[in-house]
Amino acid sequence: MATGQRWHLAHPQHMLLKTQYDSTSRHSCDICCDKLSGLIGYRCNACDFDIHEECADYFKETISFFAHPWHTLTASTIPDGTIKWSCDICRESCPAGTLVYRCTQCGFDVHPMCTLFPQTFRSPLHPQHDLNMVPSWGGCSSCQEDLPVWHYHCGICAYKLHIECATSDAAPSGSGSSHGAVDDQNAAVARESRRHRAAKFLVNTVSVAGNLASVFSAFQG
Ligand SMILES: [Zn+2]
Ligand SMILES: [Zn+2]
Ligand SMILES: [Zn+2]
Ligand SMILES: [Zn+2]
Ligand SMILES: [Zn+2]
Ligand SMILES: [Zn+2]
Repeated sequence: MATGQRWHLAHPQHMLLKTQYDSTSRHSCDICCDKLSGLIGYRCNACDFDIHEECADYFKETISFFAHPWHTLTASTIPDGTIKWSCDICRESCPAGTLVYRCTQCGFDVHPMCTLFPQTFRSPLHPQHDLNMVPSWGGCSSCQEDLPVWHYHCGICAYKLHIECATSDAAPSGSGSSHGAVDDQNAAVARESRRHRAAKFLVNTVSVAGNLASVFSAFQG
């Protein structure tokens, strides 16, 4: 079947095979880093590379992004090697083999999911004004912890929130705040999943991404 294969810019070296992942599958998408269990995606067996069908359709070769308005960003794959890549929006790592949007001229890299955050957003934690995503510094008005460079900000009230905190009240929870004796790695995993929850929440509510909402709504049960 000719329709069973496709080429994708996230893995240009091989054709990808259309795959129905079973519900116990542990594979995750090399574009959005979310699970593929129970969903349809595309796989390269030789490289253990997998992506959601929706991610394959949605993410284009080049994008323009408000946080880096000077240049077009180009989809690139993180190479294997010793250099640690991180996202200029959320500061989390970009694992080898995954897709990022990059400005090579400026060394600006961003997770595909982080390009979905809206520039303006009304948070349930600060319902009276719109928040804008800005590069600045300081502490979060909700959790008091230091902010990464990019965060949501109300210029009227000087109110600042982590991207995750801006969505935390409304994001589907189920996780009590069980802080305490977590080691660094657990903390990193927790941060990672908070960021993805935040992105999913925004994709669903602000509907910046149309089709993608269907992928992410599958994980909110
Ligand atoms: Zn995906
Ligand atoms: Zn491959
Ligand atoms: Zn990011
Ligand atoms: Zn640039
Ligand atoms: Zn916070
Ligand atoms: Zn305000």
